[in-house]
Order: sequence, then C-alpha cells, then structure tokens
Amino acid sequence: MREVGCPEEDLFSFLSSKRREDLGYRNILSSMCTPPHPIAARVHAMFLETNLGDPGLFPGTAALEDLLIRRLGALMHHPDAGGYATSGGTESNIQALRIAKKLKPVKSPNVVIPASGHFSFTKACDILGLEMRTAPLDAGFRMDAEAADGLIDDNTIAIVGVVGTTEYGMVDPIGRLSEIALERGVFLHIDAAFGGMVVPFLDNPVPFDFSLPGVSSISVDPHKMGMSTIPAGCLLTRNPEWFACLNVDTPYLTVKKECTLAGTRPGASVAAAVAVLEYLGRDGMRAVVAGCMENCRRLIEGMETLGYPRAVTPDVNVATFSCGRAPPGWRVSTTRNGHMRIVCMPHVTRDVIERFLADMGDIDA
Ligand code: PLP
Repeated sequence: MREVGCPEEDLFSFLSSKRREDLGYRNILSSMCTPPHPIAARVHAMFLETNLGDPGLFPGTAALEDLLIRRLGALMHHPDAGGYATSGGTESNIQALRIAKKLKPVKSPNVVIPASGHFSFTKACDILGLEMRTAPLDAGFRMDAEAADGLIDDNTIAIVGVVGTTEYGMVDPIGRLSEIALERGVFLHIDAAFGGMVVPFLDNPVPFDFSLPGVSSISVDPHKMGMSTIPAGCLLTRNPEWFACLNVDTPYLTVKKECTLAGTRPGASVAAAVAVLEYLGRDGMRAVVAGCMENCRRLIEGMETLGYPRAVTPDVNVATFSCGRAPPGWRVSTTRNGHMRIVCMPHVTRDVIERFLADMGDIDA
C-alpha cells in the first residue's frame, strides 16, 4: 500500500486507463451477463451501502429481498417458496446440494448430474465431499433421464436437471426427472440459473418448476437474463423450513441465526434485481425474451446460409455451430465438443447479429 495517498485526479486517470482495457459488451457474444438495465444501475447506486448480512440494520432492503423471493417463487408457481438472494448460480447450486446432503445423511453420498452440468457442480461436490455421477446426454444434448435413473442408489442425495444449459441452451426432461425423484424419494435440484428468467416468458413454456411435484429446489439468476447488477442469484426451495438445517448461530448480529453461505451480502444488486422485475413486469420480460429468441433464430438462419450448420436447435437463446473461426474483434466461445457458442443476450441486438454475420461472410470472401 502507498505511504501517501494518490491524488484523486491521478487515481481516476489510472482507473480509467484500466477500465479502457476491458472489452465493451458491444462485441461480446460469449457471456451470460449483459449490461444492467438502466433501472438496475440507478437502484444499485441508491442501495450501495446496504448489507443484507445484518438484515436488522437494513429492514427496508431485507423486505426487498423477501419481495424478490416472493416474485421469483410466484414465477416458479410457488409463491410461498423459501429462498434467499445468493451471489449467483454457483452459490445457489452449492447451497442446494448442501441442503440435500443435510436432509439425507448417508455415509458415502453421491449426486447425479447431467454431463452438461455447469462446472459449479464440480466445486460443490469437492466442497461437500460428494461423489459426482455424470449422466449422459441424448442426441439432442439433453440429459438422458433413464440413464440418470440407473445411476441412483441408496446413497444418492440429489439429482440435478438443467434449464438452459450453459453450452447448448437446452432444457433437460424435468417432467420425467420429477417422476423419477418422486419414485426414488430423491431431492431434485433444478439449475435454472440461465433459463429460469427465459423459459417462463416463452410462448409455450415447458413445465420445469415447482408445478412439478418432484422439484425440490431451483437456482435462478437475476444477474443473467434478469438484467440486474452483479452479484444477484437466487436459491428457491419448495419447503422454506429446509434452510434451517444450514443455520449457524450469529450472536452479535441483529438476527441470531444465518443460513446463507456469505456473511456480508450486498443489498444493492438485490434491490436492483427486484426493481427490474417490478419495472418490466411479465409483459416487459416477455418482450425482452421474445427479442433475444428472435435474434437467436436470425443468427442460426444467417450462419446456416453461410454454410455453418447449427449443432442443435436450442430451447433458449444460446446458439451453437459447427464453425471453427470467428471474425477478428468478436468474442465467441467454444464448447467442450468444439462448437462455436453465442449467447443472444439483450445487448446482442439485431444490429449486432447483422454486423457479426457480415463479418463472418467476409472471412470467407
Ligand atoms: N448454472 C448455469 C446453468 C450457468 O450457466 C452458470 C453460469 O453461467 C452457473 C450455474 C454459475 O453461475 P454464476 O457464474 O453466477 O455463479
């Protein structure tokens, strides 16, 4: 640390130079994040100093967290779901498996996860000492539910299904997983970190949430398609009481128990998340999602016209192609199977898609 502080002007000029090294979202096609909605940015600034780690000091912000959980619970067909605002999908997935493990104390616990599962499950299994059993995918990049069933045994504490897979944008057969979970008496966690803010706003949404009786918990991230500021995730549970199994005593706080993974927690991004939901409503979210899906379809059509076939027709706004090259200046990503992957987030507008397609056409010219 410096002995004497840096003059403000010099500091900001240094910070600006670093900020300029960041890539603008303009040409980023690989991210599941997006610039926050202007409402989110404004609300974030308003709640900057709030700390949900000690909710008794910030009862207004804590009420907004409750409102966020109620709104997302209702969206997932369970207005009385339990839940709290996490730092994102990783924390939600860890905490869901932590609950599942506490609810079923066995000697050698295992969890059944689709091969498409996000790498946060590798972290969760490592932290929680769980054997990770990987269920294969079918030809359409969705979890093979029957193969998953075959991996379940008496030591299985949970099975996981994904709604909006990170790499291919697929929705696993959650209806069938729900039946299996009920038949086998196993906790079913749904990782809808991405798709949870997409599928409910599609024209004909497939059931994936608490409307299916076997679904135990759901991860859904406002900082992805919810256009909130970072960090804003949510873990929802069918039974609000389950969180009690995570409680630790917190004697010097305004609340005497805490079930969250983090201690100090930002209120700003949580207030921002609920503000976007209130501002847009279901109608506004439907419009955002319809635009992203339309752009995704246009991208697929345009890439196929250029001779790059889709890897699969996605269920949500993630497009993948048999294509090994991207034009200079564009950030795309590559899946484990070597497909080009583009996430059609709200900042990936029709204009961006057309510019990208034109540049793709030029590299072949
Ligand atoms: N689950 C899914 C399906 C994801 O796509 C991601 C991130 O992309 C995560 C979990 C992890 O979320 P986070 O990066 O917010 O921890």
